[in-house]
This record gives sequence, C-alpha cells and structure tokens, in this order.
Amino acid sequence: MKVHVFTYGCQMNENDTEIAKQLLANAGFEIVPSEDEADIVILNTCAVRKKSEEKVYSHIGKLRKKHKKIGIMGCVAEKEKENLFKRGVSFVVGTRALNRIPEAVRNSKNGNKLIFLEDTLNEVEYQNIETRSSKHHAWITVIYGCNRFCTYCIVPYTRGREKSRPINEVLTEVEALADRGYKEFTFLGQNVDAYGKDSEDGTSLAKLLSEASRVENVKRLWFLTSYPSDFSLEIPQVMNQSEKIARSIHLPVQHGSNRILKAMNRRYSREEYIELINNIRSIVPDVSISSDIIVGFPGETDEDFEETVALVEKMQFERLNLAIYSPREGTVAWKYLKDDVLHEEKVRRMSFLLNLQKRINRELNESYQGREVEVIVESSAKNGLFYGRDVRNKIISFNGSEELIGKSVLVRIEKISAGPLFGVITKTLDI
Ligand code: SF4
Repeated sequence: MKVHVFTYGCQMNENDTEIAKQLLANAGFEIVPSEDEADIVILNTCAVRKKSEEKVYSHIGKLRKKHKKIGIMGCVAEKEKENLFKRGVSFVVGTRALNRIPEAVRNSKNGNKLIFLEDTLNEVEYQNIETRSSKHHAWITVIYGCNRFCTYCIVPYTRGREKSRPINEVLTEVEALADRGYKEFTFLGQNVDAYGKDSEDGTSLAKLLSEASRVENVKRLWFLTSYPSDFSLEIPQVMNQSEKIARSIHLPVQHGSNRILKAMNRRYSREEYIELINNIRSIVPDVSISSDIIVGFPGETDEDFEETVALVEKMQFERLNLAIYSPREGTVAWKYLKDDVLHEEKVRRMSFLLNLQKRINRELNESYQGREVEVIVESSAKNGLFYGRDVRNKIISFNGSEELIGKSVLVRIEKISAGPLFGVITKTLDI
C-alpha cells in the first residue's frame, strides 16, 4: 500500500511527520512523494488559526474527489476528533498516538473507521527515526504540550499538558543522528523552557544543551520556542561554555502593554521582559534575540499599541514575527473578549511595525558589512544562490554548490539588506 504524508504547520509537525513516515516504512508501507501516487493520504494538520483548519477541510474535499483514502493526524485530529468521520476520513490519530498510525493505515483497507487519541509516546523508539527531511539538520521534539493557556491560543487544548522526554532518550537520539552525519540539532517544544520541569531528576533545557554539546560531531544546537517567565539564565551561561550552542534566542513578548499582556494571560510584565533581555545580553553580549508580536488584540488602544512600538524600539530585536489577531474558536479570548479593533486599524498597526522593524534590521545588519562569518550551508534558494545561517541565526546568501550543503564555510559579507546578507565564500572548513 502506498502512503503519502502531507504536513501543515510548525516544525513540531514536521518532526511528527518524520516519525510517522519511519513507522510506516518499518511496517512495510511504501512512502511516496506525491498524493497522486498514493492509495492513502495522511494530512498532518495545524489548528493554530481558523485559516489553517479551513485549508485542511478544503484538502480533504479535493482528496475525496480523487477517491483517495484519508487519514488525519495533528492538531485538527485532536480538536475535531470523531467529527472528522463525517467528512469522509478513514482514521484519526491524535498528537500523542503517533505510533498507532501503521495500525490505522492497515485497518483502513477494511473500511474500518478508527480513532486513536491516547498517549503512547513512551513507545516510540526515537533513536531509530532515520527518515528526516534534511540530511544534516535534525529537529527533535523534547517536550510535548503547553501549560501556559494564553487566552488566544488553541495549543494547550490540542497538544495537551507539558510532558518532557527523558534526557537520556534525547541524548541517545542526538548521538545516533550525529553518528549518521547530522551536525545541527534543534530542540523543539511549544514551551521549550519548561523542558524537565515535569520530571524530578533535575533535568533542564540548560542541562540538555550542555550535555548535547559534548556529543562528538555535533556542530550547532538550537532551541525553540521560549517563554519569558520560564526562561532560565542558566541558558546564556551554558552558551558561554560552548561554541556549539547557537547565540540565538526566540523569546516571544507578544505585546508591549501590561494591560494587554494580562488579557492575553502572559505571565510576565513588560518590565520583567525588559529585565530578562538585559540580563541575557549582559551574560552573552552578542546574542541575537528575536520575538513575536500580535497586533489588534481585543481592547488594544492607541496607547497600548504605542507601548508595543516603544518596546520594539528599545529591544532592537534581530527578527520580529508579526501577526494580526483573529479569534480562534475554543479559546478564552474567542469566548469572552470582543474582537473590537477594526481590521483596517489592525493592518495599519501591523504595517507600522513592519516598517519599524525593517529599519532596525537594516541598522543592525550594518555591523556585518565586510565581516567574515562561519555559515553552515543549508540549501539552494529560488534565485540560484545558496544560503545558510551563522551562529546568530542570520540568513546569508552566496554562490555555492550542492556538495557544500551541510558543510561549514567562511563567508565574507559584501552586501547587506533589511533581510538576508550577501557574501562570497572565502574558505570551506569541512572537506
Ligand atoms: S505559550 Fe505558546 S503554545 Fe503555550 S499557550 Fe501560549 S502561545 Fe500557546
């Protein structure tokens, strides 16, 4: 039986797809690269926005027209459960029941409608997951779920409470991948700073980074996504102890006004966030900090927005992801808060911040002009150039070749922009 898995959403979903494909291949199914070749198509879904869920329903409609069998995994599976059978789906597998996928596919042949929502993560043999989308960079989910319950977010309802993987299991996975030639690793979690807080053995993200940095052949370690009040200053301290830990922290602030932060149920104040960033920068002065901001949250006044603008000016983020608020069914904000900022105003505020951040990016990028930086080559871009990242997560573009992918090179920066930097390779470090 031929199976195709299509992924929507975040890197954690990408990692779940890698695991699902490996489990299916181990069970004797053929994984095919396109849905047209497949007998069954599994959609690994995202429910973070209404639009992402709608895309899944439209995809289901198209697959039904092609008379394909359909399986649903990921966040929409958790949110909609049995309701998905009304859409003609053959099976539904929840975010923690990944290893039931082969059984679900096998049984779908008989026309059985199956739903697996239990937590069977302990049964997954992560160190044997060889099917990865990159040949040198591996995503590794280290903590599932989130306990934070931000009022606009559906994740705690679809991904459940926080559950950390044992540190030894993660390190064994890192060692197995490093033996197979992987150099870069990103530790993932919806709230990655909560890693280890649910275990009693003193495990923490800082400890994991420190231990993983000692694994032979590991070149660079990243982690995503941080939550300000769970972030420990031990992390910048271990960064200083190992060059392998990237000088890059994605620390979403979401808003600059305490009133809105409270309405979002973010458990820190503007002042605490600023103090945290200052402390991180005092430990690792060249650290790159990026953030997320939501504009147009219910009740956001001009004054609240001005506080966000002032915060962005003050913090000088290296990158800023901006999103316009839209109510997500099933969340506290959707139920209790009126979506009262006009759409045109949300767009105006968003484009104001976009322009501000562009200026900041350009100014910060000036310091790269003429410098030589070490870059791990990732891939080719549409413009024919190759690109990679330096240790501060700066995207750098240059003329390259396929055989350099996964290797470290020195690049001299010759041109800057508000986005990527452009340079020339001066030396290949890995032969
Ligand atoms: S911390 Fe992130 S994943 Fe958790 S509820 Fe808040 S926004 Fe959602």
